[in-house]
Amino acid sequence: MYNIGTSQQLFEKAKQSIPGGVNSPVRAFKSVGGSPVFIKKARGAYLYDVDGNEYIDYIASWGPLILGHAYPKVVQAIQEAAENGTSYGAPTELESKMAELIISMVPNVDLIRMVSSGTEACMSAIRLARGYTGRNKIIKFEGCYHGHADSFLVKAGSGLATLGIQNVPGVTQAVAEDTLTAPYNNLEAVEALVKAHKDNVAAIIIEPVAGNMGCIIPKPGFLQGLRDLCTREGIVFIFDEVMNGFRLALGGAQERLGIDADLVTYGKVIGAGMPVGAFGGKREIMSQIAPLGAVYQAGTLSGNPLAMVAGYTLLSELKNNPGLLEEVDRKTGHLYDGLTEMLSNKGIPYHVNQIGSMISVHFTGTPVIDYASASKQDIGLFNKYFHYLLSNGVYLPPSAYESWFLNNALSYDDIDRTVALTDDFLATI
Ligand code: PMP
Repeated sequence: MYNIGTSQQLFEKAKQSIPGGVNSPVRAFKSVGGSPVFIKKARGAYLYDVDGNEYIDYIASWGPLILGHAYPKVVQAIQEAAENGTSYGAPTELESKMAELIISMVPNVDLIRMVSSGTEACMSAIRLARGYTGRNKIIKFEGCYHGHADSFLVKAGSGLATLGIQNVPGVTQAVAEDTLTAPYNNLEAVEALVKAHKDNVAAIIIEPVAGNMGCIIPKPGFLQGLRDLCTREGIVFIFDEVMNGFRLALGGAQERLGIDADLVTYGKVIGAGMPVGAFGGKREIMSQIAPLGAVYQAGTLSGNPLAMVAGYTLLSELKNNPGLLEEVDRKTGHLYDGLTEMLSNKGIPYHVNQIGSMISVHFTGTPVIDYASASKQDIGLFNKYFHYLLSNGVYLPPSAYESWFLNNALSYDDIDRTVALTDDFLATI
């Protein structure tokens, strides 16, 4: 009998001292309903909660744990580094090694600066694009999420989509006016915005494969069209690879999709689950960053030795064993095949979007290509599906507006069990 009594008690207690009981909104299960489970530990493909339940994990800390939880080499590296202190606020050789490793793996990055979160990376990239171009406006896409900096909280995905928040109190009108939005996969809409704001668009920022309104794949020609537009109009093209980087390919979405960005942002993946982000790109643009240039950006914990060693170990492992990413892609393909086979002929409208190790199930009859089509899905049905799987030991993202992330510790048996449970669930409705 599935029991989460201790989690429920801890949630009530947490609400006394933490807003909503959580330190990041989606964790509160507000949209899916019910009480969140409190995690005690994780190993490989599994999460374990405080009541002793085991879950097959399809979140992987929202992306970074590509090789699974508590990956032994990463844990060992962190333990050894901790012996030498947790933070210095002064340069280390490891930071250069990390920068060199990333530059060796991804296209179009000559210089890279470490920060402590994906939000910081995207916020800094936007400031840099504005400083470099001397222009004010940015274009982002409806349903894409680039962190919680003011400029990005306009028609954003992730928790804002989950909670139905479209305008955020506290973001000033002036800031919101400088953020222009277009539907994802709609090149004409972006062209119209650029025309209407001629010579005043500093940057176009995009999740090349969107993961914050479910997994949404760019249509052929869409990203290339944006690339050409940016080149023509002197706009900085920013790929937010916080989720895509080192997952879709060693060189991220740029490599997998064959599109060049001017600036790229990274996040959680490069810290192997430790708090890290980074932004990098062409030398000419990155040279505007202080202390080389006047675009100021800084961080006490940037390049933190524990975070660096964790990320360096994970990225090295991926680089030295390119078969690992292929393996997790194959596993995701197996999940896709299983789910689509189970879902077909059940009379329930569905679309499953998948690329590499990102996948999401949408209960809707229309293809999910942007935020508007993602919003047409049957959220109530997803919520039931989520709880059915959770109570049977499978942990999906607690929102229909999030991608699932597979990790390579998952076994084919884990995936087959997930598919079988999906079939059981479908039989209940
Ligand atoms: N960009 C993308 C694409 C993200 O998915 C996220 C977070 N999920 C962020 C930026 C923000 O990263 P962080 O939560 O580390 O600030």
